[in-house]
Amino acid sequence: MCDTRKNGWERKVRKVIPYTPGEQPNRPGMIKLNTNENPYPPSMAVKKALESFPFDQLRLYPDPAVGSLTNALADYYGLKKENVFVGVGSDDVLATAFLTFFNGEKPILFPDITYSFYDVWAKLYRIPYEQKPLDENFSIVKEDYLQENGGIIFPNPNAPTGVLQPVGFIEDIIKANQDVVVIIDEAYIDFGGESCLPLIEKYDNLLVVQTFSKSRSMAGLRIGFAMGNEKLISYLNDVKYSINSYTMNQPSIVLGVESIKDDSYFKETIQKVIRTRERSKKKLKELGFSFPDSYSNFIFATHASYPAKELFEELKQKDIYVRYFNKERISNYLRISIGTDEEMDRLFEALKDIMEQ
Ligand code: PMP
Repeated sequence: MCDTRKNGWERKVRKVIPYTPGEQPNRPGMIKLNTNENPYPPSMAVKKALESFPFDQLRLYPDPAVGSLTNALADYYGLKKENVFVGVGSDDVLATAFLTFFNGEKPILFPDITYSFYDVWAKLYRIPYEQKPLDENFSIVKEDYLQENGGIIFPNPNAPTGVLQPVGFIEDIIKANQDVVVIIDEAYIDFGGESCLPLIEKYDNLLVVQTFSKSRSMAGLRIGFAMGNEKLISYLNDVKYSINSYTMNQPSIVLGVESIKDDSYFKETIQKVIRTRERSKKKLKELGFSFPDSYSNFIFATHASYPAKELFEELKQKDIYVRYFNKERISNYLRISIGTDEEMDRLFEALKDIMEQ
């Protein structure tokens, strides 16, 4: 509808096209491989803490500084608490970082194929941006990020492609851009990639963002965190405290700490997901799919003979959900999250059935 036909107040609304999250159906027996959740439960230590959580404490506001979880993360990664910022999932951390650091006139840069929340935040906060095309192998073209800009963000490994860039490659980009903030979104780094975290000591313009949603099986608790130079973290906190002091709820803080303490379970679960991913790569190849090599908990696959959209629809008929993006360059790809071996076997059987029809 044209704006002039709208009411006075409606013309003043901040109109946005929101991000579309993957569907969250929850039917018994269905297979959900569409939102990169972990197929394994969180640590049993988390379950114990949840069951013994003191009910009466819910009367009280949580610690606005999220102290215990910030300290646990700082200890785990060998940092000071001043280097860590915790938020309500990495979406909250990233949105706060966009608002805090991308405040110049020049466009911020991110890839054309990437996490589709970035352009939503850029538009919401009216940040100018430019999307740089990935090359034909879905790799980032370094030179594109060596021009003047207002900031840089990309995931490593990238989503939805799963492609990992080596730390040296990313360091070249950070080094060449020390007048702006560079955010590396490491939502999937625990599944076999090398983190850029050690670089925060060398570069005060680097913010590394991670999450409990994937490798720690805690998407439902909404815990994300950023690590960087003390100054960056303190600017993030200034913006956070200018919107909402009590972002993290009490159970999430307590359960997040328990998850960090159980490192052997964390590492074991990651290895299970990686083993299934590598096995799934072989199976998908046998079925005729091709895909960029994935270092994440999903595979971004295409088939020369079967259109992705049709496969997506037919899998859905069989109660198997994968993710399909009807977007330029990737409309013939399916993003398949790594489930358990049994779930993946059912997916491969279903694909075989569909292809034999
Ligand atoms: N970054 C990337 C690249 C993602 O794929 C996701 C998951 N949708 C997120 C950040 C946000 O995850 P969360 O808010 O659950 O931490």
